[in-house]
Amino acid sequence: MLNIESKDILSFDLHGLEKLMVSFGYKAFHGQQVYAWIYRRGITDYDKMTDLQKDLRKKLFDNYPEMLPKIIKEVRGSGDQSTTKFLLEAEDKQRFEVVNIPTQDRNTLCVSCQVGCVYNCKFCATGSMGFKRNLTYEEIVGSYFAVQNRIKERITNIVFMGMGEPLINLKNVMQAWNIFTEPDGIGISRRKVTISTVGIPDQIRVLALEPYPPKLVFSICSPHEEIRRKLLLKAGKYSLEEIHKSLMYYSKKSRNRITIALLIAKGFNNTIEDAKALHSWIRNLPVKINILRYNETEDGLSRADENDVEKVANELHRLGRTVILRQSRGSDINAACGQLAAKY
Ligand code: SF4
Repeated sequence: MLNIESKDILSFDLHGLEKLMVSFGYKAFHGQQVYAWIYRRGITDYDKMTDLQKDLRKKLFDNYPEMLPKIIKEVRGSGDQSTTKFLLEAEDKQRFEVVNIPTQDRNTLCVSCQVGCVYNCKFCATGSMGFKRNLTYEEIVGSYFAVQNRIKERITNIVFMGMGEPLINLKNVMQAWNIFTEPDGIGISRRKVTISTVGIPDQIRVLALEPYPPKLVFSICSPHEEIRRKLLLKAGKYSLEEIHKSLMYYSKKSRNRITIALLIAKGFNNTIEDAKALHSWIRNLPVKINILRYNETEDGLSRADENDVEKVANELHRLGRTVILRQSRGSDINAACGQLAAKY
């Protein structure tokens, strides 16, 4: 792509950078050098691009000065390998979050795709902010570089599970996904960049038709239609049956196993009957189930007893499902979606 009008250097792919260099009066291979600095080495400071002539670095800075969103707040959790949440600010002063979750064998970045969200799920602080706008793919990729520069460690996994619903900003999300997974660029494995959805059937079908359909997480909330509607409010208009059909279509097209995320909150989905209902809803979908504990916001929902969470996990396991009980990370830093941005 070549958009000479763009104010963001991250909007250019390799071919676009080559053309840009030619339009500046340099050679196309200078574009390859800039591409390698940014996407292979993760260097976003022109002064550090030492094999570029000084006047070219100046020209780049004069035309594309602000490459990354600014980190305006950083909140680190307690303990080793702690989760860190970053509040970022875009050029138009809109704020959004990114969370870094290091574990022993991986370093995951949870990225946002929108400022706010059109849905207003009851358990989610982002929903309570209302919808401001979609993030561009340059801003999504920029948030990755901003955090990578700060933590100075390689990010191994990315999840689109921050603020916003990825499937309704799919064009930008897929462009960012392609940049993250480009083998000659950032080069994160396609298996390790995951998109999470609250369940938008038409968009799940669109995603299934991508040349390389990304791995998908579906946040079910509850296998009971009426409880789901209570929790998801607007997004609850899509029926579980429609979602099941679209997930079946996705799994056939993509051959990917789907992850079902079950966020357990007290009184909504924390009983053995809920586990049984989830098992029957899944039927023959190829899935694994991730159980997450609810991080309390100010919406009246509360954390389920640990005992109940384990009972749900054990029942699903007994019924033959693959279940992963996720450690609750970052409850001390408002790490659930949108909690920090809503606060500031
Ligand atoms: S859970 Fe997802 S879809 Fe629901 S309000 Fe939050 S960001 Fe939006």
